[in-house]
Amino acid sequence: MTIDGRSLLAVVAALCVVFSIVVLALERRIHQTMPGLRLWAIANLFLGAAAAAHMLQGHVPIWVPAIVGNWTMLVGRSTAVAALRQFDRQSVPTAWLVTACGVFMLAIAATLVWPEPRARAMIMVGGMALLALWATYSLAVGAAPSVSRVLTMVGMGGWGLANLWRLWTTAHLPAGAPVLNLSDPTVATYLGALVIMDVFCNIGFVLLITDRMHEWVLQLARTDHLTGALSRGALYAQAARDLQRARRQCTHTAAFIVDIDRFKTINDSHGHAAGDAILRHVAQHGQAVLRCTDLFGRYGGDEFVAILPETDLPTAASIAERLRVAVGEPLPGAAPLPCGLCGVTVSIGVAAVAPGCEGVDDLIAQADQALYEAKHDGRNRTRVAEDEPADAGKPPLRVVQGRP
Ligand code: GH3
Ligand code: MG
Repeated sequence: MTIDGRSLLAVVAALCVVFSIVVLALERRIHQTMPGLRLWAIANLFLGAAAAAHMLQGHVPIWVPAIVGNWTMLVGRSTAVAALRQFDRQSVPTAWLVTACGVFMLAIAATLVWPEPRARAMIMVGGMALLALWATYSLAVGAAPSVSRVLTMVGMGGWGLANLWRLWTTAHLPAGAPVLNLSDPTVATYLGALVIMDVFCNIGFVLLITDRMHEWVLQLARTDHLTGALSRGALYAQAARDLQRARRQCTHTAAFIVDIDRFKTINDSHGHAAGDAILRHVAQHGQAVLRCTDLFGRYGGDEFVAILPETDLPTAASIAERLRVAVGEPLPGAAPLPCGLCGVTVSIGVAAVAPGCEGVDDLIAQADQALYEAKHDGRNRTRVAEDEPADAGKPPLRVVQGRP
């Protein structure tokens, strides 16, 4: 069974419109801005219009497929390059795209003034191949490979290669042969390849969108919305993995728990918005004093927990103390808080994995006990869950002298 070129162009036009509706529908369902979606939908509409214009060849004046069809196809492919780069948050080389598109458009227009159908076809497919391979390259360098990315690349790269093949076959056409004979099987093969590649790259792009949505959902679940620190669930899950590794490798893991002093009073006297700003302030200081391998999460209310893999107790205590001192200072580069610093201070309890320590709950319970003592002893201090009480007169927990 052979399908004629006109039917294949109708399929291309219909597919482009369908995929542009699918992408626009997905964009409406996402309540955040995902860059590149609207441009991709617009690119598909241009490509669909171009396929429709070529489909009408023989029934409309020659300038409709030659100018409208070819120009809209070039604009559509350039827009697709911009869409993919925007999606991956790469810079969009607008000047280069406009220049490349403009040069090919002018060359195509020139072949209409001096009728040169073969030159026009070669310029056209050459331009399409260049733009599609540019889009494939942008996808390859945009992010790590995934099934959806590879599928989009196969579609886009295949589109480019099909056009390179078409460039070669056009260059070897016998003199006087029609350039785009819609009933020619070679043309049908070329157009059939474009249909398949269009399906590949559009399905790949839709999968890229769903991958991005999945990343967002994971990110939402992992992060505390107000402070940007890890959520309690994510903190526990990651800390359990860190503790397992520490047990296997016989290394220390330390933790500290930070509680804002008299936070209720800050809320009552300065308002909840000021309280929220203080929570963010403490979270940012917490993240600033830690290494990227440490974990810092919101434990609940005005409490934060830090987990420090491969860290012994004295080191953890000095980091905690550094945080306690830093909290009383404005954050470098941050906007000033609505109430100055509202006299904010924190109390911190520090603990480390001890031989009997079974897991995260155990570690945090020890740090919590130290925190309780810090509060009990007057707040604005760091306590370490280390020393057993030697006698009734000696405090059971050590006060850490912080580094300046
Ligand atoms: P202490 O020094 O003993 O810790 O006294 P405190 O007043 O800080 O007491 P506590 O830690 O129990 O107070 C926690 C307060 O944190 C109670 C609650 O109103 C407030 N809070 C909890 N979550 C939020 C939040 O998301 N935003 C704001 N602004 N306040 C919160
Ligand atoms: Mg508190």
